Amino acid sequence: MRASDATRIYFDRAADELDLSASMRLLLATPEREVTVQLPVERDSGELATFIGYRVQHNDARGPFKGGLRYHPRVDLDDVRALAALMTWKTAVVDIPFGGAKGGVAVDPKDCSLRELERITRKFVDALHDMFGPDVDIPAPDMGTTADMMAWVMNQYGRYHGFAPGCVTGKPVDYHGIPGREEATGRGVGALTLKLLSRLGRTIPGTRIAIQGFGNVGSHAAKYLADAECRIVAVGDATASFRNDAGLDVLELLRHVRGTGGRLAGFAGGDALPAGELLATDCDVLVPAALGGVITAANADAIRAPIIVEGANAPVEPDADDRLTARGVVVLPDILANAGGVTASWFEWVQNRQYYQWGLDRVRGELDRILGRAFEEVWQLAQARKLPLRTAAYMVGVGRVARATALGGPG
Ligand code: NAD
Repeated sequence: MRASDATRIYFDRAADELDLSASMRLLLATPEREVTVQLPVERDSGELATFIGYRVQHNDARGPFKGGLRYHPRVDLDDVRALAALMTWKTAVVDIPFGGAKGGVAVDPKDCSLRELERITRKFVDALHDMFGPDVDIPAPDMGTTADMMAWVMNQYGRYHGFAPGCVTGKPVDYHGIPGREEATGRGVGALTLKLLSRLGRTIPGTRIAIQGFGNVGSHAAKYLADAECRIVAVGDATASFRNDAGLDVLELLRHVRGTGGRLAGFAGGDALPAGELLATDCDVLVPAALGGVITAANADAIRAPIIVEGANAPVEPDADDRLTARGVVVLPDILANAGGVTASWFEWVQNRQYYQWGLDRVRGELDRILGRAFEEVWQLAQARKLPLRTAAYMVGVGRVARATALGGPG
């Protein structure tokens, strides 16, 4: 199934519950702008390589377009379109003043030197800088991109438009970023997992967690949950998966990936799991925190976790979601579960625009407050209407965007 079709199915379910008119549905489901650009870049070898970049601006009824920039070999326009729509609903669920957008470049960052990645990133800004800006469209890191790359985005944007740190978020702390942004998505995944466990009446210490993906989101979620005395019984990434029933040592895992350029392969503190078995491993909470589309109708019945917390964007396809729901599996959806990153990006943008800095405690405190408020709103709606958390979260997000559209006028 195409990624945008999956997002549309979830949108339609919420639109039905909200009784949205056909004209409002069409307006909200259609991206405002989609751009594909050619990025010719010189390799270190002197050879010319051509990459394709995308930016989709889905909706800005509630504020400037906002969304990450993904570097992955399989990125295409449809993926970016789906992720842009998710951003619109996500910023609305947590009620921050942004719309939704997404960008991507079809490139495997592992095949590029740092200098090549810098040239690709600067070329991307050269091609699209007129569409960006602190009040227009604000990129951020996503899969395959880092804080350092966001520094290049800001620097390149400044060559055209002058000093404007609020033109991009997720920057290094020493280059107009803020403490707490890098950990924010994983911290939010962890904090919301604990809230969900409490609401479900489950004991937190000893809860067995399995995490797919040990990059930014997966590693910070693992650390947060291990600090809360959960047991991280399995982790996996693109290179290997490991299980340890006594709990993997998260600090050792972090030390290992620091020494291997981010790869889990070679970790000695657990038993290797065969490729593909991580998602079906025995655990209490499964956190897919890598790619989208990993839980499908083909493997949904093999999932043993009674709770899934979507750290990644769109990891569960609609057919799989239906099977899981029918079995009573509780799914905390991406548009709420991983909204910590964009929420902290909002804090960074606010501080950039005020030339002011908050401390880490304030960032964490505000993040926990906003995510906690959004979780309760979604939880209460799901209980009151007897709906899955995903439909309730979409109703909150889509409902807010529809109201803003009606108030502002469709243009
Ligand atoms: P990252 O690049 O830091 O890490 C990605 C991880 O996924 C790596 O450990 C990689 O090895 C693993 N991976 C890749 N392909 C895999 C495969 N086939 N099987 C198993 N593991 C695989 O990316 P990230 O920033 O942690 O993002 C992960 C997910 O979270 C993405 O879906 C992204 O859209 C979503 N997300 C990220 C943020 C953020 O702030 N970084 C915010 C919201 C959502």
